[in-house]
Amino acid sequence: MTLSDEQQFLTEVVAPDGYKFTVNTGLFINNEFVAGENTIDTTNPATGKLLATVQAAEAKQVDMAVDAAEKAFHHGWKSSHPRERSRLLNKLADLIERDTDEIAHLESLDSGKAIMGVRNFDAPHSINQLRYFSGFCDKNHGKVIQTNGKLSYTIHEPIGVCAGIIAWNVSTLMITYKIAPALCVGNTVVIKTSEFAPLAALKIAALVREAGFPPGVINIISGYGHTAGEAMSHHKKIGKISFTGSVATGRLIMKGAAESNLKKVTLELGGKSPVIIFDDVENLDEAVTWVHTGGYSISGQACCAGSRVYVQEGIYDQFIEKLKTLVLSKKIGCPFEQDTFQGPQVSETQFKRVMDYIDIGKKEGATCYLGGNSINREGYYIEPTIFTDVTENMRIMQEEIFGPVICVAKFRDENDVIFKANDTTYGLAAGVFTANVTRALTVSKALEAGQVWVNCFMTIDSPIPFGGYKQSGFGRECSEYALMDYIQIKSIKINAGNPV
Ligand code: NAD
Repeated sequence: MTLSDEQQFLTEVVAPDGYKFTVNTGLFINNEFVAGENTIDTTNPATGKLLATVQAAEAKQVDMAVDAAEKAFHHGWKSSHPRERSRLLNKLADLIERDTDEIAHLESLDSGKAIMGVRNFDAPHSINQLRYFSGFCDKNHGKVIQTNGKLSYTIHEPIGVCAGIIAWNVSTLMITYKIAPALCVGNTVVIKTSEFAPLAALKIAALVREAGFPPGVINIISGYGHTAGEAMSHHKKIGKISFTGSVATGRLIMKGAAESNLKKVTLELGGKSPVIIFDDVENLDEAVTWVHTGGYSISGQACCAGSRVYVQEGIYDQFIEKLKTLVLSKKIGCPFEQDTFQGPQVSETQFKRVMDYIDIGKKEGATCYLGGNSINREGYYIEPTIFTDVTENMRIMQEEIFGPVICVAKFRDENDVIFKANDTTYGLAAGVFTANVTRALTVSKALEAGQVWVNCFMTIDSPIPFGGYKQSGFGRECSEYALMDYIQIKSIKINAGNPV
């Protein structure tokens, strides 16, 4: 395929703020944009209208992408100089930085996320992720182990072709979460984006080529889960899948791995994260702001959203009143207006799912203290909602809603709240607000979650491991720990002249 063949997939996208740009909507395989077997119509959730039609991979194109990645792995990337890998990761980071505005527009258009959030959080964090792991390329080494009369040591080897299957809610971020640690240690990758938000990834694909990555090292394909995703989980040449998405799909990924080649699997799944506010909190207003950010950012569509809030009896009424005031002060509307905090839900399906949960909460007997309705305008908008009088056994307290809905409950003391906070099948994140250092240490240790934030919430950073306990998954992203999920360890023992 020549570059001019690729022109057929160029699509013009226009944002409501007048920003116009062209995206190549082909499948990015072997550094070329190629045709799929199928197509996906992606819509703007703020209007419900068609944005673009992108090429969609099926099993045949998954094979093509895996073959390209396998060839690139064996013919150069596996044994490439770590400094070269580092240079390319940094180059990609620089290009994402240069084109942040375009990426932010695409992600916002496609997912309905407020553009300020993508600009201020997703894009900088993606850039950090690439730069952070670029520093590890030449620091990935094993150990020398003292053994009697023999030289024993370990070496870290890449796995080969690693796949990433990602959700729609933070696609730019997720791509860099998968690409950076995998490439750093010498693997090549095939990333499948979500059918609900493929556009920002296609812009990143163009930047991969511009950065100068050899063909096949990074392949980015759009595709449906039940076809392309299923083909990836069952693929015999994929050595590892890193999956980000729902628990239900996570189970299918493990099943696919079990039924095919027992590929390694890491899972970043859903959550129902508790946030605990003790009555000794130093600054209640700040705690309320963290709760608001943690519960309603990305219209409540964050895996680690603090959707179960436990407030100690003495400050409960004050807390609820302050949270309500803050919620009502935030703008909900067009994601492209600079002061918009909350945009629409990503799709009609997600919108209906959240509205169903609000209905369930009302029927279960919880009090809908604020919100609880859809917003009467074009697109999939839902009022930020607060449920009070929520009990542990209610579905809205146990199941991931993935929408702008926070459930608030009272607690008595430490033991009471630790029991309630851990009474869940999830274990992604948790928050604790207290001025008492001993209490902060005891409670954060007792919480069953992959990350606990004290006097803050959802402050994700590249050097800090991110991942779940229980059914929120296993494996870690970000941090040095993530590298362990992308290597195989070989031990070598050399007899240094000792007789048998
Ligand atoms: P989803 O599970 O429906 O889809 C995720 C991805 O899996 C998509 O790319 C989809 O095409 C693919 N998929 C669907 N069926 C598949 C199959 N049979 N085989 C292989 N792949 C398949 O999830 P979603 O609705 O896109 O995302 C929301 C979920 O993701 C929430 O539960 C959220 O908590 C979770 N999430 C977790 C994290 C984390 O880091 N823990 C981050 C973001 C989102």
